[in-house]
Order: sequence, then structure tokens, then C-alpha cells
Amino acid sequence: GNKNINAKLVLLGDVGAGKSSLVLRFVKGQFVEFQESTIGAAFFSQTLAVNDATVKFEIWDTAGQERYHSLAPMYYRGAAAAIIVYDITNQASFDRAKKWVQELQAQGNPNMVMALAGNKADLLDTRKVAAEEAQAYAQENGLFFMETSAKTAANVNDIFYEIAKRLPRV
Ligand code: GDP
Ligand code: MG
Repeated sequence: GNKNINAKLVLLGDVGAGKSSLVLRFVKGQFVEFQESTIGAAFFSQTLAVNDATVKFEIWDTAGQERYHSLAPMYYRGAAAAIIVYDITNQASFDRAKKWVQELQAQGNPNMVMALAGNKADLLDTRKVAAEEAQAYAQENGLFFMETSAKTAANVNDIFYEIAKRLPRV
């Protein structure tokens, strides 16, 4: 039969990596060039039908600034899934993403489904992080990896869909 699953999902990653833009694209199908910085965190929800289930994502889009770091556990605690976002044109954002992965591995729910999103995949000319490097890192650390673009919509629904498929069916 069809199952209804509620899944808390948190987006983590450096300021400017495109967390809010990915959520805006997924939830509203929109993109803005001058997305305002998130203060604290913002909440959204969106439902997705997968083969055998309807997944209602309860999405926490966090700010990413270091001064809000101490708030992050409130958002990832109890989360069923996390998307750790970096910007493929920014090496420091990839380093920051790895720090988030370490923190989730140490403090997060051990069954959490974790996705690594290399965002701004439309900006190939200014790429700094090789897809192969990110893919290898993700594989070693038990995440799945996709390059996304909130701007063109490439792989945005797909990453949420892949998470939905991986969630435990209770
Ligand atoms: P956040 O701080 O991680 O929430 O990042 P934002 O969603 O606020 O995005 C930061 C900036 O990057 C904004 O100016 C966005 O328009 C831009 N941006 C976000 N995603 C993409 C993308 O996929 N491609 C391009 N070219 N720009 C993006
Ligand atoms: Mg934001």
C-alpha cells in the first residue's frame, strides 16, 4: 500500500553555496539572482511522490554563518536527511562541507541519509572543485553525490527524489 512518510531534512553548508536557492527551486520552482542571506534558519515543506510512498519533507534551510553555528544541532538533531551544499566554484566551501559531514557523523542521527550537493554546476568556466574529487569523498564517507544548479534546475528535484527513495520505510 501507499505510505505517508514525514521526513525532517536540513540543509547545511557555507554562506553563499546556494542552500536557499536549492530550496526555492525545489519548493517553488523559482530562482533569483540576488537571493537574500538567510537569518537563523527558514522552514519550508514540500511533498514528493516516490514509487511506494508519499514523502512530506519538512525542510530547515540554515544560515551557514559561523556565528549561527551553535544553533545548527537544533536543526540536524532528529533529522532523517541532510543535504550538505558547496559551490563548485569555491574550494573553501568544499572544505566547509567536509567539516559539516564530520560534525554530522559525530553528532547526527546515525541513520541519517546524507547527500552532498556540488551546486552552481552551471558555472563550469569557473569550476574549482573537480566532480571526481567530490564523488570520491562522498563514496568514502557514505554520502551520495550530485552536482546541482538551482539556476537551471539541473538535478534539483533529483537530489530530493534520491533522498526520498533512501529513507527507511517504517
Ligand atoms: P545560501 O547562503 O547557501 O542560502 O546561498 P543562496 O541561495 O543565498 O545563494 C547565494 C548566491 O548564489 C545568490 O546570489 C544566488 O542567486 C546564487 N546561486 C545560488 N545557486 C546558484 C546556482 O546554481 N547557479 C548560479 N549561477 N548561482 C547560484
Ligand atoms: Mg540562505
